[in-house]
Amino acid sequence: MIELLRYRDLTRVIYFRDLLEEAGIRTFIRNENLSNTGVSIPDYFPALCILNESEQQVAMDLIRVDLAANEKPSGPEWICGDCQESSPANFDTCWNCGTIGLSPSRPDAESGSTQPSARL
Ligand SMILES: [Zn+2]
Repeated sequence: MIELLRYRDLTRVIYFRDLLEEAGIRTFIRNENLSNTGVSIPDYFPALCILNESEQQVAMDLIRVDLAANEKPSGPEWICGDCQESSPANFDTCWNCGTIGLSPSRPDAESGSTQPSARL
């Protein structure tokens, strides 16, 4: 049995348990019952384990992809030119009035033709 992750919040552990079970990976939650006792010692936090060692890589990949997908966008908010409301960086349009926002300059968008050709 291999422990993959551990959270104080049992619902988070259960969320990943379901994620792995859906992929056919057999799992086990350690300390599932202890989480209700208000214990704040990390050793007793609910821990998601897998039963089959050979599935560890697949399981970790599933968790990693899911974490990356739910990551908050890191860019700054932008201000709508129409109504002056601010929208999160991952919004293409103003949440308030629907005006299409000015996308932040992408450094890789202009590097196509200006790239110096290497002559070796
Ligand atoms: Zn707006």
